[in-house]
Amino acid sequence: MPVKITKKFSFESAHYLPLFPEGHKCKRLHGHSFKLEVNLIGEINEQGVVLDFGDIKKIVSPFVNKLDHYCINEIGLAEQDPLLSNPTSENLAKWFYLQLKPLLPLLENIRIQETCTSSCTYSPN
Ligand SMILES: [Zn+2]
Repeated sequence: MPVKITKKFSFESAHYLPLFPEGHKCKRLHGHSFKLEVNLIGEINEQGVVLDFGDIKKIVSPFVNKLDHYCINEIGLAEQDPLLSNPTSENLAKWFYLQLKPLLPLLENIRIQETCTSSCTYSPN
């Protein structure tokens, strides 16, 4: 029977949403304390776990550190990455999913929370 597990991360980043209309508050440079949830699903192995949480942390942390205390748009523009150049929660969740899925085959979805009341879950399946 498949079991779901979740590993949570957080990072502080600046961003702006360039495709929002002039005057919209999200078009201005601002910051969030982003919360990231990495959700996996799989069978319990002979160790009694789906995957070692420490192994998940080792795999995910470089991607979190890449964004932490940076302006995400600047990374996106430097790397010509359309998701990071327009870093909505939806695009950030998709970016994390696309980065992590090859490294974490049990990855089911990514949840990004940018405020206490606003979050997005990217779940392509
Ligand atoms: Zn924002």
